[in-house]
Amino acid sequence: MNPKCPACGAGSWKVGFSRSNRRVYMCKSCGKKFNERAGTPFWYLKAPEKDVLTATLLYVKYPLSTYQVAELLELFGVRVSASSVGRWPQRFGTSAKRIAKRYKIKFSRIWHVDEKFTPHKRVPSKLWKRGKRKWAYQITVLDSESNVVASYLAPRRSTEAVKKVLRRAKEEAGFSPDIVVSDKYNAYDRGVNVLGRQTRHVRAHFEGKWIPYGKGAVLLSNNRIERYHSEIAPKIRSMRGVKNLERGDCFFQIYNFSHNFSKKGRLRRILGQLDLKLSLEGLTKLFYMARDF
Ligand SMILES: [Zn+2]
Repeated sequence: MNPKCPACGAGSWKVGFSRSNRRVYMCKSCGKKFNERAGTPFWYLKAPEKDVLTATLLYVKYPLSTYQVAELLELFGVRVSASSVGRWPQRFGTSAKRIAKRYKIKFSRIWHVDEKFTPHKRVPSKLWKRGKRKWAYQITVLDSESNVVASYLAPRRSTEAVKKVLRRAKEEAGFSPDIVVSDKYNAYDRGVNVLGRQTRHVRAHFEGKWIPYGKGAVLLSNNRIERYHSEIAPKIRSMRGVKNLERGDCFFQIYNFSHNFSKKGRLRRILGQLDLKLSLEGLTKLFYMARDF
């Protein structure tokens, strides 16, 4: 089947090939022309798909800097620039969202929320020659299976920021949890209200707390999310913090997608259902197919 028009969603006709030998289509409704890569993360790129995918996987999954990824790939005969490596992950945002929507993860009904300091920008200061370090806050909602329900890179720690991430989480999961666990930071008290009355707010940190739940009791602590933080810390260090909050937020969305879907063989299973293998070719095809998800 021919791909749908990225502009209006109507069907298309085949109309020859582009100079770079890609199949070109024309929209049946609006008449716009687009090539076979339209609507995929690879649209408007010259680099081969497998190089884009390899670089993105290395950069997102491992605590390597953009330069390290470029250097490493050069040894394998793949030439990519460090700045491309830094930009490419953002291209996978839309497709990742579509895949996550089609293959929904069943989140548990106990969530953990916490924030992590992330270096953002230096502001000029008389005291410090290089400027005073400013922070952003990566707020993450984790379920009790360590799946990331939602995250938000906030400019400051505030009730507003907490509300925003919890609203995202509620939308993502499609329900409000029974219990939300946070530390004692007071922005969570009012922030949790967006989840509605049925959600209980429990404050616990390293030391666990026994809370009656269902027919028994659960031991709740925020250790799970601290562990997740120690997982993202080396990545943040390798990025030397975030330069732009929106792009940083987008990066973490991709990061969380890869975190959620590489667990429990999820990606392998999805690819298997589509008759694809867990390989660069399989993943490339998945991202092509995600256009219609
Ligand atoms: Zn169209």
